[in-house]
Amino acid sequence: MACRHGFIECITEMKHSGELAKYGLAAINCMLDVCGKDQGLGHDIGCTSRKTVASSSISTKAQEPNLIIAINAFHGYAHNRRCQLAHHPLYLEGFGIEDLKTCEQIFSSSNCACGLIQHASYFYWIQYLDLHFDQWDKDKYLELSNFLHNNYVQALRIIDEYTPLLNEFKTHKSLTDDAFLQWREDESEFLTNLALEPPSDAIAVAYIEELENSSVQS
Ligand SMILES: [Zn+2]
Ligand SMILES: [Zn+2]
Repeated sequence: MACRHGFIECITEMKHSGELAKYGLAAINCMLDVCGKDQGLGHDIGCTSRKTVASSSISTKAQEPNLIIAINAFHGYAHNRRCQLAHHPLYLEGFGIEDLKTCEQIFSSSNCACGLIQHASYFYWIQYLDLHFDQWDKDKYLELSNFLHNNYVQALRIIDEYTPLLNEFKTHKSLTDDAFLQWREDESEFLTNLALEPPSDAIAVAYIEELENSSVQS
């Protein structure tokens, strides 16, 4: 787990078991202890881990400090639109231009360490990984001002470029900001209802079936 600036918060060793929910829960538990209230957490299976957290022993601990579990920016495209409407960082307040993919960058760097430590003893394996992540944090710290400045400039550019276009669109279509929020709710409601067959369709199909039955009998 890492913070939005790329610093590593916690690492779990899971050499034999594969990815189990308990590791995610332990990481969330650790984050709540260290970081406290009002945290936003991005997880690549955030929609599932929300339910796991809610039914786990840390559910009350996670509810009280107002923890938000979101999905990362690419998950919505791979899963479904309803999941995206509910949990995508673009639609949640407070996530800014964050894509929640920081861990992918960390894995990409730590993959390079594999060749050096795959035949090492357990002690050197841990020691080398510790060195690697320690250096990673130092590099991130060195880059921090630049990182914050670049993000700030990027956010300002987005606001500068898109605000006039958006205002023009709103005037042209006579829309307010509330309409955009309403669209998201409408779309979510539409997709939820789509899971059930509309009564008018069910009646039409039943009618055709009855017609076919009566034509067979006559
Ligand atoms: Zn940070
Ligand atoms: Zn999902």
